[in-house]
Amino acid sequence: MKKISILGATGSIGLQTVEVIEEHPDQFQLTAIAFGKNIEKAIPIIQYHRPKTIVVADHDIKEKLTLQIDVAPQHILVGEEGLIDISCDREIDLVVNAVMGSMGLPATIAAIEAQKQIAFANKETLVTAGHLVMEKAKEYNVNLLPVDSEHSAIFQALNGEDKKSVNQIILTASGGSFRDKTRADLSGVTVNDALNHPNWDMGAKITIDSATMMNKGLEVIEAHWLFDIPYEKIDVVQHRESVIHSMIEYVDRSVIAQLGTPDMRVPIQYALTYPERLSSLSFEPLDVKQLHQLHFQELDMNRFPMLRYAYEAGKKGGSMPTVLNAANEVAVALFLQEKITFLEIETIVEHALQAHRLIQSPDLETINQIDQETRIKIDEAHR
Ligand code: NDP
Ligand code: MG
Repeated sequence: MKKISILGATGSIGLQTVEVIEEHPDQFQLTAIAFGKNIEKAIPIIQYHRPKTIVVADHDIKEKLTLQIDVAPQHILVGEEGLIDISCDREIDLVVNAVMGSMGLPATIAAIEAQKQIAFANKETLVTAGHLVMEKAKEYNVNLLPVDSEHSAIFQALNGEDKKSVNQIILTASGGSFRDKTRADLSGVTVNDALNHPNWDMGAKITIDSATMMNKGLEVIEAHWLFDIPYEKIDVVQHRESVIHSMIEYVDRSVIAQLGTPDMRVPIQYALTYPERLSSLSFEPLDVKQLHQLHFQELDMNRFPMLRYAYEAGKKGGSMPTVLNAANEVAVALFLQEKITFLEIETIVEHALQAHRLIQSPDLETINQIDQETRIKIDEAHR
């Protein structure tokens, strides 16, 4: 029986992880959950699984929760300390990190230091502090098991081979909600238009990131750190159908791809069961006879400048990816609040990167400071 804690249990990845756990009650036990504010989504999970520890965003939510459900207050923790607690608790075997944004960084480090298995969805943490996280993971001999579908595909296609044999990683991109629009079409798009993703049903932030192509940019940086592959060997190709989740070209020109229906429960479950696999009756099989055609197209960096910014920030390294991520997180939040237009997300990120003076090998404290400064500056400019 694997004892699991989920950080971000009420989110898109979190809820799908709960589904996977419920399908295999003989394999998994949900021992702890963390969520932010969404009490309605949390209550059924708490009633069904009776997790030993519940973490919420703040004391207000804790109070509201205790009024609605019979849980002893000492079982409810609050904030970052709570997240850290359920990431290194002695009873936990595996931590699913599915919070949104770089707020997942301290818990990731705590889970690594406690040598937990980690099912890792929280890409912003690797973008903001990839060098520190991977250094820790190496030191404590911990594997980050990728949940992101592209990285799960690469992980499976790699299947333990030496990275020297890899010629190229090819990440596939659906193109997001606006893939058929020109740049001129983008000036009037609304939040609702952007939230309408053609292939995947995901949290709001990542859906916007998919529309700007920043999601693929973050994934390029995530792949660089997870697989220790230089940026020159990471390519992106547009693939509308999201059937091929990514591929590896080896030095002998053999290409290995991983395919499947677009269902996040598949990579989530693989991260929970690795190195084994479990049969799951609720997952749709991929019927290759019905595919007929798959499409591939070069991604135009002028049409999608955010991908270019991510490559540039990743290659410069140091504190640049921290700025890229923080600026993007704030800009997306401002767009979701309808305070800026869709195209302003790009200008905010571009200006933040241009204004930043690179710091090589920043430590954790420096990263937190740069992250905060970047957010405050942009927030103040858009009050
Ligand atoms: P969601 O926005 O759907 O979920 C985020 C989760 O984090 C929610 O449970 C939210 O709680 C929780 N949370 C927010 N603030 C806090 C806090 N202070 N303390 C504890 N928990 C908090 O995001 P997604 O599930 O879409 O994405 C999560 C991560 O996975 C992101 O890094 C994303 O890039 C990555 N990812 C997602 C994919 C997807 O298909 N959705 C695919 C690949 C990667 P609440 O809502 O209750 O406030
Ligand atoms: Mg992905």
